[in-house]
Amino acid sequence: MEQKQWGVYVHIPFCRQKCFYCDFPSFAGRERYMKEYIRALCQEIEVRGSSYVRRWGNPATIYIGGGTPSALPAALMEQLLLAIGNVFCIAGEEVEFTVECNPGTVDAAYLAMMHAHGVNRLSFGVQSFDDELLRRIGRIHTGEQAVQAAVMARAVGFSNISIDLMYGLPGQSMAELKAGVEQALSLQPAHISIYGLQLEEGTAFARLQEMGKLDLPTDEDTEAMYDYMTEVLPANGYERYEISNFARPGFASRHNLSYWQDLPYLGLGAAAHSYLEGQRWEAETEIPAYIDLIKSGQSPFKLEEPATRAIAMEEFAFLALRTTAGISRQRFEQKFGCSFDSVYQQAVQRLCDKGFLVDDGDAVYLTKLGMKYGNWAFEEFLLF
Ligand code: SF4
Repeated sequence: MEQKQWGVYVHIPFCRQKCFYCDFPSFAGRERYMKEYIRALCQEIEVRGSSYVRRWGNPATIYIGGGTPSALPAALMEQLLLAIGNVFCIAGEEVEFTVECNPGTVDAAYLAMMHAHGVNRLSFGVQSFDDELLRRIGRIHTGEQAVQAAVMARAVGFSNISIDLMYGLPGQSMAELKAGVEQALSLQPAHISIYGLQLEEGTAFARLQEMGKLDLPTDEDTEAMYDYMTEVLPANGYERYEISNFARPGFASRHNLSYWQDLPYLGLGAAAHSYLEGQRWEAETEIPAYIDLIKSGQSPFKLEEPATRAIAMEEFAFLALRTTAGISRQRFEQKFGCSFDSVYQQAVQRLCDKGFLVDDGDAVYLTKLGMKYGNWAFEEFLLF
């Protein structure tokens, strides 16, 4: 058996309500499919999960994301966790096992049940602690529920808790943002992610923006929010290890790091992506179609258009540049069989001259300024 470092992603495509900014493959009002979906997903875990364990050994990380995994009723979540535990070895802390949770969907018993089944990391989509702002962006929970969810999680034994926060939201002020960050810090999570609002096509916010009805903060205000967060989190012991991610020492998300480090992962469930042996695959997005494919023993996966060598190099560079470790020359050369400098020497020089990049000989990585203006820096790594 070829022992490999690899990860497993499990997708739960259900949400109670669609947040106004969200373009993830998740659906509200499809609860009627939950039972059948979990049955099909458990079957896929059993068949495909086992086959990769036989080939590569146990995965280093398992991540149940969505959607809202915690929107599943406790009995279905338990069924899913049992299926995962039957295929992968999840005892102890060796495997990082994360479940994404919406604070409006959990109670102490639900959290304790997940902990008892080997989950050792929770990622709470909090976004804000301000009830009015939460309502304005379509979240189903309150600030108090977010606080309680984190407190309950700790009480039932979780020490590795992550909190997501958003900035640049409609009607959001600097004072609200600061209060939210302070509230998050007071909960002492192991990990904090920060996301600026992106207006994605097809979302309620994109439509409102087209109609001129979205009251967004100015670019200067959004930039000030970003500057504040990227200052205050490290000052409070949260080391930045990726553009949007900060963690106490030893608590960087191993699963997410594996995406940026070009490691393989197996995606299970509708709309899940896989990256296996250099090829990217995408599963059927529609829930009923996914269930039918699994039931009839067919593969739910389609191979994505294979990337050209140039696109593969760009992707490798973009992903690695997101992390503070940056692009390793050695890893680039191992993967592509040519020297990093033969491809990117001029881009590196231009970005170093602007103060966006540091070159330490082994790796090149973005400076704080480079992370702030990441898109400009990434453009330099386009090959055409
Ligand atoms: S809960 Fe998460 S996945 Fe669901 S709609 Fe909101 S942001 Fe999207």
